[in-house]
Amino acid sequence: MIRRNSRGGTAALWSGLSLCAFTLTGLVASTSPEPISPEGSAPENFSASMTTNDPYCPPGTEPASAAERRVADPDAGPADNVVITPEQAAEYEDDLQRAMERIRGHEAAAPYTVPVVVHVISASDGSGEVSDGRIDDQVDVLNRAYQGEYAQGSEGTDTEFRFELADVTRTENDTWFREFGDHRDTIRAELRQGGAETLNIYTADLGSGLLGFSTFPQDYADNPEQDGVAIAHDTLPGGDRENFNEGHTGTHEVGHWLGLFHTFQNGCESPGDYIDDTPYEREAASGCPEGRDTCPERQGEDPVTNFMNYSDDACMTHFTQGQAQRMAEHWSAFREGAPKA
Ligand SMILES: [Zn+2]
Repeated sequence: MIRRNSRGGTAALWSGLSLCAFTLTGLVASTSPEPISPEGSAPENFSASMTTNDPYCPPGTEPASAAERRVADPDAGPADNVVITPEQAAEYEDDLQRAMERIRGHEAAAPYTVPVVVHVISASDGSGEVSDGRIDDQVDVLNRAYQGEYAQGSEGTDTEFRFELADVTRTENDTWFREFGDHRDTIRAELRQGGAETLNIYTADLGSGLLGFSTFPQDYADNPEQDGVAIAHDTLPGGDRENFNEGHTGTHEVGHWLGLFHTFQNGCESPGDYIDDTPYEREAASGCPEGRDTCPERQGEDPVTNFMNYSDDACMTHFTQGQAQRMAEHWSAFREGAPKA
């Protein structure tokens, strides 16, 4: 497996080892050609699935049903297909701090307006077609989520990010649609539009176990043409993906694209997800286990309803003020409003 940057090599080795470990404990699902391992450990009742052609694990270990995962990305960095290790997270953090130092006094001003280009990949039998109406609905979900409109009570945060649909491209290609992972570098290189500030969203069949993945802002400089978010076509509002068809796979992946880690990054260990107002969490949530507390020695219950968890769409309601701040920093440092390095 060829990685494009230095961080990826370690990630690849690590993911291979971890993936088999996950098989044993009943985790993750992926049909990606590269080993996509879970971002966090498994909830107890989590159903598992394993791709049969996984290069690291023997066949014959497939559980009955596929799990639905939102998995942070690919080749562009350690987000690639894997749990982001504490070391990789720290490296991203160092990149951010260095960049923030460079742009001090030149931070972008809110609101942060993000042009959006959606690339619909579909099959010749019509699979994967996403109507203009559903694309509009997805952009609307992003705007509502980032304005805090799904929040309950006082937890809502207006992140001041706004999304404007700039273009939609449509590509009918059976191979690209069904084997997006195998061809993603080619697809993104051919279709991507705009600069660092432009959010490119690709929709296709990502495989039964994968809802979406994203690159991080720090990856842009080394791999500009691979920058973007991929989401399973049936996760857009009105899609067929049970429990994940309200558009929050998009919300979650765009969170990564704006620099956020999962709420369960680093588990109960400091510095967690590098954000003060998201309580520590030992592992990803599945379903909507509100009230659980997997880090009892830490303050606060698990952020089960946070968009950067793995809960069902209907369970996810908000970003925090700390997450909003962190996204604004990444936007300024790597995407818009900053002198380019
Ligand atoms: Zn994720």
